[in-house]
Formats: sequence, structure tokens, C-alpha cells
Amino acid sequence: MPDSTLKTYGTDVFYGKAVRKYMPKTVADKLEATMREGKPLDPSIADDVANAMKNWALESGATHFTHWFQPMTGGTAEKHDAFLEPVGPASAVHKFSGKNLIGGETDASSFPSGGLRSTFEARGYTAWDPTSPAFIKRHGNGATLCIPTAFCAYTGAALDMKTPLLRSIQALTRATERLMQKFRRPKAHVSVTLGAEQEYFLIDKKFYLKRPDLLQTGRTVFGAAPAKHQQLDDHYFGAIRPRILNFMTEVEQRLWKLGIPAKTRHNEVAPAQFELAPMFEDLNLAVDHNMLVMEVLRQTADSHGLVCLLHEKPFDGVNGSGKHCNWSISYGEKNLLSPGDNPRDNAIFLTVLSAVVRAVDLHSDMLRMATAGIGNDHRLGANEAPPAIISIFLGDELSEVMREIETGKAGKKAGRTTMKIGVDTMPSLPKDTTDRNRTSPFAFTGNKFEFRAPGSSQNCAASCMVLNTIVAESIDAICDKLDAAGGDFHEELQKLLQRLIKKHKRILFSGDGYGSDWPKEAKRRSLPNLRDTLEAIEPLNDLANRELFSKYGVLSDGEMASRYEIAAESYERRVFIEGRVALDMARAMIRPVVADEFTNLATAIGQAKKDGLKVGVAGLKALSLKLGAGLDDLHVKCERLEKALGKTDCRAIIAEMEDLRRTVDRLERLVDDTKWPLPKYREMLFIY
Ligand code: ADP
Ligand code: MG
Repeated sequence: MPDSTLKTYGTDVFYGKAVRKYMPKTVADKLEATMREGKPLDPSIADDVANAMKNWALESGATHFTHWFQPMTGGTAEKHDAFLEPVGPASAVHKFSGKNLIGGETDASSFPSGGLRSTFEARGYTAWDPTSPAFIKRHGNGATLCIPTAFCAYTGAALDMKTPLLRSIQALTRATERLMQKFRRPKAHVSVTLGAEQEYFLIDKKFYLKRPDLLQTGRTVFGAAPAKHQQLDDHYFGAIRPRILNFMTEVEQRLWKLGIPAKTRHNEVAPAQFELAPMFEDLNLAVDHNMLVMEVLRQTADSHGLVCLLHEKPFDGVNGSGKHCNWSISYGEKNLLSPGDNPRDNAIFLTVLSAVVRAVDLHSDMLRMATAGIGNDHRLGANEAPPAIISIFLGDELSEVMREIETGKAGKKAGRTTMKIGVDTMPSLPKDTTDRNRTSPFAFTGNKFEFRAPGSSQNCAASCMVLNTIVAESIDAICDKLDAAGGDFHEELQKLLQRLIKKHKRILFSGDGYGSDWPKEAKRRSLPNLRDTLEAIEPLNDLANRELFSKYGVLSDGEMASRYEIAAESYERRVFIEGRVALDMARAMIRPVVADEFTNLATAIGQAKKDGLKVGVAGLKALSLKLGAGLDDLHVKCERLEKALGKTDCRAIIAEMEDLRRTVDRLERLVDDTKWPLPKYREMLFIY
């Protein structure tokens, strides 16, 4: 039975009551200030904190601790050490010091570094991130204390996803504080917020184990579309099957214990596709929590005889999975992307909104970069996901406000002459109309922006790190202009926003992002359209981008270069693996079955002729012709793919794989169903 009392909510997190229970008040106050406000930790309390954390962890059943980090592999990493230390041949005590807590040294030689760490300097360092509370991970017969950490090289260069994210939060915090000073707001805590909606597929494990492609690449490289898939829209928001609900309930129980506010669950568009959405939280914590959500989804599925597929496009022809990053900035209690009900709040809202518009227009290439990856290539630009062209959707009401500011003329509906920033109240923005355009990669949804391009398996740190940095730069640019201008603050602001909107409005697009006209229109507007990973990672080499990210202290030149190396290499390796898997399956699984059936047919035709049968021969012949042609085709395409795999042209390998797939999928419809060696889409997507 689930815990409906919430008594166990957050019990596996070292925060609040747990902190208070295990350490003296003075130490707890200092630690909590660090956790909440990101203040540097007073080193003199490190031992006390470590001791308290150890006692809490031991009482919670943990025997080990680990620094938990997010290397550039895309996943998380951990190396466990027991708390025990022997004090004699047959006795041991528990030890965990401030030093153990704050930093760790680890052999980093097998983590991707993109040239940042030479082989003779293989050490990597993990550094405690006190802003994300330690937590306990449980497995069947034990538990481990996990300490969220950043991971860097000896030189201090970032080897992970968290370090640049934390740096970018700092940059955006500083810029926001500066802007709020311009608006004469009293000092308050800046918090960047993220709510990451996670989409995923679930299939029965017995099918999964029979699909080498799913096992090795996370997606099906073959598979004919079933007659019925998602055409009837009967899965979306449909009644959730009991087996899936059981799974979801256990996922939530586990997440709630970890203090992860899983809130919404529903069936998604594609058959066997689902979504989990948490309540939004502080960005850094939300990113850590999303990494845990993915882990808990995968592990829980396993114990229910299911497999959770987090790949962006496990099945061709039906919707892929994304991770919608809902992003905003708050200042104290106020969400800066929420239009207020007084003119002063509206002025702040419109300024931050314009800063985002300017940022995305100037740096959409970097946002696209953050979503690059082999899985997402199948999703972005395909006809059911946001396009690879980044544009912003604002909704009718807000677009009208922007037009008013730009032209200085009131719209038809407004009962005044022109919208005066700081004087007039904005018309209200009905939330449901802002949320309607599902084809936009970057949509304003009432009180936040929703970035829909990130892929379901990706770490949202990448996208948010870019977003924070480019918006920080935009806010700074606005502040610089306001500093330079003398006159009345709101009049200057009005003129400035007018100029900004004029200059950057090409990024605004309310039409159909899936339509075939949009790429042409986007080209006319000179918006980048980076179609695959190879194109999408190029912005990391752009000098202006390098300058911007190093100016804001988020990624140095070397770190950008290393990220490019890692992305390019990982992409190449993955393409090669997919090609190899497809070739092996086609040759060793598909071909024998087709050859067998063809041989049987040929024998049957010969026999029928010998027996002088009048009927059936024509049918057998027609089928054997089709199968024979397919068999020849299969041979040719395998040879071609093999040749492509001998070179390092990723696009050529992908093209040959797609070509081979067409042949295999055609054969799937011809060959005896009972003999086909792979579970079919109509089974995997519907039988669970
Ligand atoms: P929907 O988009 O389905 O209408 P919501 O708008 O309620 O649902 O929320 C979608 C996600 O956006 C949730 O994870 C929610 O917590 C998050 N969200 C809501 N407000 C904010 C905010 N101010 N900052 C970041 N995320 C937010
Ligand atoms: Mg959704």
C-alpha cells in the first residue's frame, strides 16, 4: 500500500528535521544557510556536518557512502566506500570525516574529458555541492549515502554537467540582482526554477530481451509500422492500465522518499508512452532530481517485468519522447515571468521577457547545441516533435502586447492609446491560450518558458546552462543601456524594449512549427536550422560563443573545445554501434529466416510441378519472386552498409542503415509471422 500520509516524504534526504536532529543548532544554521542560499560553507564545521550525516545515514541503514556526480557520459557516476575502518584483526568502527565529505579524488581516466586531462594526470576531483542535499539510495538488502558533487580535473577544468550549471546559475543570479536594483526592488533571493516533464516508454521485458537493437542501442533499428498505432489518439490521457499504475505508484513512493515532488502521471500520445511531471524546484536540485527520476523509472520497471525506454525515438513512425524543461526566474516570492497585476510588476515582466527574446534570437544556435545527440536527431525536425529550428511562441495576447510596444500603437482591443511601460497594466493572459501551440520548441506558457527540444534521455543541465548564460548576458546588456541612458527610467525602458523587439522579433513565430513552409520562412529570416548532431555541435567552435561563455565564467575556451570533442566522438561511436547492430541482425537473424522460407517455397514449387498440381503454383511462384527479390536486396544492402562502416562518414552509415531498414521492414510483412525472429511493433507497443 502506498503511504498516503506523507509521513515518509523526504525521509531519505538529509535536510530540515534530519539536519536539526543530528547536529547542534549553530552548525545546523550555518549549513542550512549554505544549502538554501548557496553561501560558501564555513570549513570549520565540515567535520561536524560529516559526523551528523554519517550518524543519520547509519541509522537509515546505509553502510556505504559515495560522491555522486554527472560526468560527460550523459549519466551519473558513483564509487562506493564503506564507512567501516578496521581497528584490529576482528573489529571495526565507522569513520567519515569532513575531508571525506568535501572532496574526493578519483581515477578519472575512463571518463570522457575531450583532451582536458592528459593521460599522465588521470586524477579527477569531486567537490561537494551543499546546495543539493545528500540522500540515501536503497537497494534490496542495503543502502548508500549519496553526496551530490561536481567533478573536475586537477586544473579545475569541469569534467561534468553540474559545474557549468552552477556557474551559470551564479551568472544569472548576479545579472538578475543588478536588474532588480534598477527597478529599486529590495534585496531578495534569486532562484532559477525548473520543472522537467519526463516522457518514457514501457514495454514488456520478454520482448526487450529478444531485440538486440533495443538492448544495445535503446531503439529499434527495424520494425514495420503496425496497422494501428497512434492514429486514433486513443492512448493520450486514456485510462491507465492497472499494471502500469502499479509501476507508477511504486516509482512515486520511491521518489517521494527522496523528496522528489512527482506530481503528474498520464498516458502520452504514442501507444506504450507515458509521462511523469514533478513540481518545479530550484534548478540545480531539479536537475539532480531528474537524473534520479530516470534511474528510478528504469529500476522500478525491471522489478515489474517491464523495461523503461528513455531513448528519444525507440520506435519509428510513432511519437518520440522529449523532456520539456519549464524554466523561470524568481526574485524572493515573485516569479519574474509572471505578469503581475500592477504596472510596476508588468514593467519587470516585460523586461525579463524581452531579455529572453533577445537571448534566444542571438544564441539559438547554442540552445540547439544543448539538445544535440544521436537519439534526438530522430525527433527534432521529424513531424511530431519541435523542429530543429529554434523559435519562440508567445501566444496571441502577449504577441499583441509586444506589437504594441514595438509600434507604439495600441491594438484594437486595448481601451487606451499606447501601452506605457510602468504606467499601464497589461491585459490578462489566459493561460490556456498560451499553451496551445505544441509545435513550438520554445513556448511561453503563462508564467514560464517551456523548452521542448531537449530529449527524454538528456541531462537538462546542458539546456539550462545555456539558457541561464545567454539570458544573463541579455539582462546585462539591458542594464548597460539603462545605465548609459539618462532620462526618465520608464521612458528609457520603453524606448529600449521597443528597439529590442524590433531587432529580435524574427525569432517570434506563432505558426505551425511542423509545417513545410516554416523551414523556408526561417531561412528567409536567417534563423539557423541545424539538422543533425554534427551541425548542432558546431556552435561550440564559434568564437563569439566561446567568448560569451568564458566572459560569464561558465565554460572556458578549453572546456568548450573539450565538450565539442566529446560530443563528436560519442556521436561517431554511437552511429557505428547502431550500424553494426543493424548489420548483425540483418545477416544473422533476418537473412536465415528469409532464406529458409524461400528455399521451402522453391522446393514446394518443384514438388507441385512434379505432381502436376493445377492450382497454387502461381501463388507460390508470386511469393517466391517477392521473397527472392527481398533476399537479393538484403544481401546488397548489407554489403553496402558494411562498406560504409569501414569508413568514418556518419551520414553515409545512417543513410545505408535506413535503406537496409526499408528492405527488412518489407520482408517483415512477407515472412511467416510465426518464424519472424523479432517481436513486432504491434506486440511491443500494445501487449503490456
Ligand atoms: P502543463 O504544462 O501541463 O499545463 P503546468 O504548467 O502546471 O502543466 O506545469 C508543467 C511543469 O512546469 C511542471 O513541472 C510545473 O511544476 C512547472 N512549472 C510551473 N511553474 C513553474 C515555474 N515558475 N518555473 C519552472 N517551472 C514551473
Ligand atoms: Mg507533456
